[in-house]
Amino acid sequence: MGCGNDIAGEQIVCMQCELQMPFTNFCLQQDNAVEKRFWGRLPIHAAASTFYFTKGSQLQNMLHALKYKGNKEIGYFLGRQMAVQIKDCDRFRGIDALVPLPLFASREKKRGYNQATVLCEAISDVLQIPVIENAVKRLSATETQTHKSREERWENMEGKFFLEEAALLMHKNILLVDDVITTGATLEACGIELLKAEGAQLSILSLAFAVDE
Ligand SMILES: [Zn+2]
Repeated sequence: MGCGNDIAGEQIVCMQCELQMPFTNFCLQQDNAVEKRFWGRLPIHAAASTFYFTKGSQLQNMLHALKYKGNKEIGYFLGRQMAVQIKDCDRFRGIDALVPLPLFASREKKRGYNQATVLCEAISDVLQIPVIENAVKRLSATETQTHKSREERWENMEGKFFLEEAALLMHKNILLVDDVITTGATLEACGIELLKAEGAQLSILSLAFAVDE
């Protein structure tokens, strides 16, 4: 997937390419750029992205393969990188539930999987933390009408979530996982729902962080 050199076995990129990936090291930095993005919007314990996302990069090619070419192996490779980064990081210690940001049901059906779930499965493999997929649901336009209350005023279609199984997340230290953070609005909307579970604490980890907004 990287420089095109032949590699042995089932590796995704060669060692050289792996070392050259744009790691942020955000997980070690309190008040990093991802956390700042959520300031005043969402009470989080910690947040980080593993890589910087830039257009035309090798990482963008990998994400494209994961999201549009059905290449789940790339997702497992990238998810392992995410896990390894937070493994020895104090600020991400004590996580006991991995929650992938839900896709619209129609999009997940078309793609065959949720790429955030693939990332979570790889993280789960490394860190031995369960993935909890069915607690929060992303609503389609029709369903949104059903759940809408007078106080709820949603600004756009991206940000509609519903905590369906709060009991699954009660008193959990949740890590919400997504592929790329841009504005953070979708994660914010989902995070607000997750925090409705009694005693829940929230941290956020994304594979990549888009700097050029
Ligand atoms: Zn290479």
